[in-house]
Amino acid sequence: MRITDVEGIMLRLPEVREIGDGCQSVMIIKVHTDEGVTGIGEAHTNPLVNKAVLDAPLCSISAQGLRGLLLGEDPRDIGRLWDRMDRHTQTYGRRGVAMHVISGIDIALWDILGKVAGLPVHRLLGGTRRTHHRAYASDLSQPSLEATVDLAKQHKANGYKAMKFGWGDLGGDPRKDVRRTAAIRAAVGDEVDIMIDMGFAVPLDDALYLGRAFAEHGVYFLEEPLAPDDLDGFARLTAVSPTPIATGEKEAGVHAYRMLMEHGGLRIIQPDIARVGGISESLRIAALAESRGVRMIPHCWSTDILVAATLHVISTLRDCPYLEYNATDNPLRTDLLVDPIRPVDGIVTVPEKPGLGIELNQDTIDRYRWNP
Ligand SMILES: [Mg+2]
Repeated sequence: MRITDVEGIMLRLPEVREIGDGCQSVMIIKVHTDEGVTGIGEAHTNPLVNKAVLDAPLCSISAQGLRGLLLGEDPRDIGRLWDRMDRHTQTYGRRGVAMHVISGIDIALWDILGKVAGLPVHRLLGGTRRTHHRAYASDLSQPSLEATVDLAKQHKANGYKAMKFGWGDLGGDPRKDVRRTAAIRAAVGDEVDIMIDMGFAVPLDDALYLGRAFAEHGVYFLEEPLAPDDLDGFARLTAVSPTPIATGEKEAGVHAYRMLMEHGGLRIIQPDIARVGGISESLRIAALAESRGVRMIPHCWSTDILVAATLHVISTLRDCPYLEYNATDNPLRTDLLVDPIRPVDGIVTVPEKPGLGIELNQDTIDRYRWNP
């Protein structure tokens, strides 16, 4: 079995906002083979930048484009191909966009292996622990407190037992952030887990204040209150915050997570499987986290391709309390698959068909295909 092409398909909504849904523009990766089996993956970052990494011609031994590294190779040799892609992009890659594209290809290779084996990916990963997962509704903090509270009530009415609000106007005034969180708590009651995602760094003093104040409202975790590389800040915050601190959606590669755990004291990490190096690297990160008693609750704020890949990975984890489920309204999320992945009473089930177990909706791809 040989790889005949690695195709990058770019999709984009007609209008893209600065703060919006995580899949306003999307890079789907298809790995084609000479036996007619095609693998599907997603790279979660700027699609046009991804495309350059995929298409770039040979520059030097450690600065190559990824397609050229894969043509003619056996797609079932996932480990060897992962190392090959990593080794030959190390000058410009390792932790940035190259790793995002490697992620999309890796996910597609696992899809191929599952289709060839006739098994869902989670079975191939060697240790399915559960097939049903509690989803937390992941949404944006709205411009007004009332609108955010209304959304919280909607998510609860839709069956979610947990929900996260992030970005928007959070940050800048920690007392306002606490008032908003208190209003959400009052609206949904004590039985619902609430997560707050700052998105961008706030001053360490504000983060310390929020970590203490949010605990009074039972916040499940406070996400990304500091800059991704502020390991000293995270170490100080995690040492004293009664609210658990979570971060990691902007990292790639296992070493970044080792640093967050070793030096930042993080007890919850959030790798994005379409950024960190795919399913393969996610397993290495998960093993490291598990050995330290750290929880891995992956970042999952894009299309149903990422949702499927995330479900297969977390189905094998010993302790993953939640699937992040993008609860915004966006056709690239809701209509990308023939059978979209939907929660029922807040529970999402891992696909059981071979590979990722998903099929793309060609109408949606044709409608939103982007060729700048
Ligand atoms: Mg986040």
